[in-house]
Amino acid sequence: MSHLPVKAPDKAQIRFNEFNLPVSTEFDDIYFNNENGLAESRYVFLQHNDLPERWQTHSHSAFRIAESGFGTGLNFLASWALFAEQAPSTMRLHFVSFEKYPLAPADMARALQHFPELAAYAQLLINALPSPHAGCHRLQFDDGRVTLDLWYGDIHDQLPQWLPHATNTIDAWFLDGFAPDKNPQMWQPELYRAMAQSCREHGSFATFTAAGAVRRGLQEAGFAVKKVKGFGRKRDMLRGELSTEQTQPAPHSLGSNRDSAAAPVTIIGGGIAAACLAWSLCRRGFSVELLTTGLANGASGNAQGAVYPLLHAELSPLSEFFLGAFDHARQFYQQHSSLWHETGVVQLAFNAMRQQRHDKIIASGLYHDSLVRELDGPATQTLWNALPAQPALFYPRAGWVPPENLVQQLFAACGERLRVTPCAPITTMKSEREGWQLSATDGAYYHARTLIVAAGAGSNNLLAPWQLTFQNVRGQVTQVQATDVSSGCNLVVCYKGYFTPPANGLHCVGATYAREHAGLEFDAQQQQPTHTADTAENLATLQDNLQQPWTTQLIPVNDRAALRHTTRDHLPACGWLTDNLGVFAGLGSRGFTSAPLGAEILVGQLLNEPLPLGASLLARLAPQRLQDVAT
Ligand code: SAM
Repeated sequence: MSHLPVKAPDKAQIRFNEFNLPVSTEFDDIYFNNENGLAESRYVFLQHNDLPERWQTHSHSAFRIAESGFGTGLNFLASWALFAEQAPSTMRLHFVSFEKYPLAPADMARALQHFPELAAYAQLLINALPSPHAGCHRLQFDDGRVTLDLWYGDIHDQLPQWLPHATNTIDAWFLDGFAPDKNPQMWQPELYRAMAQSCREHGSFATFTAAGAVRRGLQEAGFAVKKVKGFGRKRDMLRGELSTEQTQPAPHSLGSNRDSAAAPVTIIGGGIAAACLAWSLCRRGFSVELLTTGLANGASGNAQGAVYPLLHAELSPLSEFFLGAFDHARQFYQQHSSLWHETGVVQLAFNAMRQQRHDKIIASGLYHDSLVRELDGPATQTLWNALPAQPALFYPRAGWVPPENLVQQLFAACGERLRVTPCAPITTMKSEREGWQLSATDGAYYHARTLIVAAGAGSNNLLAPWQLTFQNVRGQVTQVQATDVSSGCNLVVCYKGYFTPPANGLHCVGATYAREHAGLEFDAQQQQPTHTADTAENLATLQDNLQQPWTTQLIPVNDRAALRHTTRDHLPACGWLTDNLGVFAGLGSRGFTSAPLGAEILVGQLLNEPLPLGASLLARLAPQRLQDVAT
């Protein structure tokens, strides 16, 4: 399967008509009815998919809707509002929508101002909108009860990436999109076939059109189609259901298509990967047992951690993964935690090679300027006047989190479904009839039915039988006292190292990168001893790269060292080795950016949910790729 370009899709070309309603200039068609768009949306898409009635009798814990053409988000907002009012409180809503021409946030806001009853929902959506790169953007609302997967790009390009992990998952389709005669490219048999393949039993659809070709296409794909009265003055529309014999069997997913919290899932770990996994599982009704040597005591225990994407000048899997992961992490932290600091991150071009790399990233044209822009020297100094006059890349939506507090907060948010079991390091696991027997260094044994290893550098011993190649890389971070000048620092500054804004009067200056720690230390999760040479190295890198007098006046007060758990290709290992053994490890220096999305992937795979990443990238994350690689 080929990789799709991450390039931002073209922005919607719209104008507002005499009623101040949006009209596509490209398609010469309206986004919604001039008279009452919300009433039409409710009539065509909600009522004719039998919502909200189906929510009362639905046999799964999530109701899933897919849509062609997100447009202004009106159908999504109408569904969300109805769901919030009428669905059983234990049910979740998962809404997947494809959009070729994402609306600019200001246009979306203007279009939606016609619907004051949706204003609160619309504001949340607009605040959460990702930068418009092609591919999936997963957003969560209502504390994780509502998930929105926005797939940007032509639906016909995105379906081959989405469908392999979406067979037998969708309950209702909203077949929208501009009128078939104005947008024939979208209304194709491939779309109807994909709709059929993605439907769960009794999957339904509704569409505003009654065009003969659409009716026939849907029938050929296996839907029983009915023509019914259209909205308002429109004569007809179509609705229907996939016939039972056409429903595709759910693909073999981890032995069983689990949709209940029958048995607890055991997680070994205590850092950001484990915290995000526990959160994603608990939100879906699972109970979780966390076996831990301590919370945030490894690489997740530093005082401050930057969250920003890792971009390349070419279409690398790494850039693609981090685009989705960064947007998701930002929205996740914004939603769930008061600990997100959206200060922006600046990456200085501290030498000619760095400058060249930055130029190439911008010249590639792959990235929208809401994500990253290039600054010249004077512009860099407008961010903070104590920065050197170096050109730089600036990520306005990036920022930092306080890792230890954040990890604690996420575990606390799991509530009663989470049981934390402190233990000595667990170093071996043995397959047994109903799962895994785990043994710790103090001789204690534990049992796990479904197990996820998310123990950072402590995962190596456990996973040794699978011969996965990871590297432990020691990193030391130095904290320095803020001075009069340095306390003006209001964003994360990256160079060869990084310098953070002050928190409680201290900055972090990081971090060393020592590869020699590749062994299988069973105490790898424990904090490492610190070295004075590393303190000196951190300060020297800051001084050399920035060449500013204030950097020589900083006084170190505290150091912390831990092992990063890294992979050769810098992508995390995220997936299932067997039906009941998951791995989320190798998050390297970017764990706070990749953990929220990685957790959603792993848990989504367990439940056979539509996944928030294309099939080819998912294959790149599979832990099996790290097998048999000579070190
Ligand atoms: N459902 C929308 C709402 O609630 O506002 C209205 C949808 S509007 C009538 C049609 C949408 O389909 C437009 O936003 C358009 O950009 C999108 N679209 C058209 N062709 C497409 C394609 N091939 N792939 C994905 N989206 C497409």
